[in-house]
Amino acid sequence: MSETNKNLTAPEEGSGNFIHTFIAEDIAENGRFAGQRVHTRFPPEPNGYLHIGHAKAICVDFGTAEKFGGLCNLRMDDTNPTKEDTEYVDAIKEDIRWLGFSWDDRFHYASDYFDTMYELAVKLIEKGLAYVCELTPEQMHDNRGDLTHPAVSPYRDRPIAESLALFARMKAGEFADGRMTLRAKMDLASGNFNLRDPVIYRINHMHHHRTGDKWCVYPMYDFAHPIEDAMEGITHSLCTLEFEEHRPLYDWVIEHIDLPAKPRQIEFARLGINNTVMSKRKLRKLVEGGFVSGWDDPRMPTLCGLRRRGFTPASIRNFCSRIGVSKVDSTVEYGFLEHCLREDLNLKARRTMAVLHPVKLVLTNYPQGQTETFTVENNPERPEDGTREVTFSRELWIEAGDFLEEPVKGYRRLFPGNEVRLKTAYIVRCTGCDKNEDGSVKTVYAEYDPETRGGNTPDGRKVRGTIHWVNAADCTEAEVRLYGSLFTVPEPEQEEDFLTVLNPDSLQVLQHCKVEPSLREADAAMPFQFMREGYFCLDKDSTPAHLVFNRSVSLKDGFKPNK
Ligand code: ATP
Ligand code: MG
Repeated sequence: MSETNKNLTAPEEGSGNFIHTFIAEDIAENGRFAGQRVHTRFPPEPNGYLHIGHAKAICVDFGTAEKFGGLCNLRMDDTNPTKEDTEYVDAIKEDIRWLGFSWDDRFHYASDYFDTMYELAVKLIEKGLAYVCELTPEQMHDNRGDLTHPAVSPYRDRPIAESLALFARMKAGEFADGRMTLRAKMDLASGNFNLRDPVIYRINHMHHHRTGDKWCVYPMYDFAHPIEDAMEGITHSLCTLEFEEHRPLYDWVIEHIDLPAKPRQIEFARLGINNTVMSKRKLRKLVEGGFVSGWDDPRMPTLCGLRRRGFTPASIRNFCSRIGVSKVDSTVEYGFLEHCLREDLNLKARRTMAVLHPVKLVLTNYPQGQTETFTVENNPERPEDGTREVTFSRELWIEAGDFLEEPVKGYRRLFPGNEVRLKTAYIVRCTGCDKNEDGSVKTVYAEYDPETRGGNTPDGRKVRGTIHWVNAADCTEAEVRLYGSLFTVPEPEQEEDFLTVLNPDSLQVLQHCKVEPSLREADAAMPFQFMREGYFCLDKDSTPAHLVFNRSVSLKDGFKPNK
């Protein structure tokens, strides 16, 4: 990782987007793409689930097309036959749709171009621009030269006819993996080692998820990608910085092969986020090792994980837009992603009351058998979300932490003799408690003040604490899952073995929580605020008989920009 990755950045809003500047120049009069419609693509490799880093690329690719009234293709980059699977293809589509982008009928597989690519490789050989090389990978490595010595390539001057014949035999399956390669004739002395006659085809006797066993030679990314882009009429091929050094190769292919378009590659920085790992290889280890429940475990930085956790498409798109695009790799704080979620949920989430660690509160002077109803706003931020009724009676559930028999300094909630406001209902004064055999509090007792309906004090006396509650008579039980970081260190990517810094307490499961009855109507698409506890959503494990909620994010925003 580069030095700059150590900087935790709080993104600057509205920072200029250099990609947009380049494109605006390109499509202007006299520009490279004057008069053309901007056309981008998002090219995931279908070998895993998309993560938040991909969301950035998706927002850049689809978002840039959107900005210029252009088009964006979705292309499965399946030139590498290992570990690719249709399961991933479907998941990738679902995640991109969920983010709110569409590709209409512009869906492609890189493998659709295998025939074309092969023919174009043959043409390169015919032009004397590619040759079959018999160096083993080790020999090629030993012969690559150094900054003062060019690479040595003994097969470089092999006659064209011989290369053509060998390439055909490679394709026919006559040789073992690694026995031969096709190399582009570029520049053995280049200071950029990627250009020292790079391999553009290799032998790989492997089953492909779409082309089956038709091929045993597969094109390398640097050869394949510009061809795929050109075949689809892409104008701007936006990719991450690690491809910057490969751009001359991209341009070489575009220049030396007769293609229907001449796309331009522009690179931008990868997104890194602290407290998590992002490479598919590592995420797969978490899944396969059983350290998480699956790719969509709510602690995973995958889009399906974030979705299950309760992240909204708007929060992720807003996050991506605010981190912006730059040419310098950086790590963004996970807290900023949560900050964007809170902002969105504050507007969207229905306010409800849920008690996660319940203890009984009995109002000894409230009439037995009486129930009253309060009408409360679903979301004070959005009056249009309407109101609902909550019931109140003599026995309530409150948070265990909202009562202390012996208060500590500054404690303003329930303790014997103290008054608190029960949110939207009444002011109550604590009179004492009962205990279980183990010394834990069993029941808290209080008296309510009938003059304070709605939580107001007619005499203007100050009541400092306000606590939430649910009515014991009609509440519902729920399981609530609280999530913490998967790792105990902020930069698990830096660890030699990231599995050694897994946080054993990243999942906390609370059973028998008490939630207000309106939550029986929860559906997976509805975000909730459990007052004072955070934002929550229904988990897919939930059933009508056993409600399960995930905490999406706590209420408290620990994120401090530019700290
Ligand atoms: P990983 O290393 O996680 O496996 P990848 O780059 O191999 O990722 P691809 O499926 O090839 O995954 O990625 C598709 C696109 O998403 C590429 O254009 C890639 O540059 C981009 N991308 C992947 N990770 C990030 C990231 N962290 N930030 C920005 N873009 C990313
Ligand atoms: Mg990749």
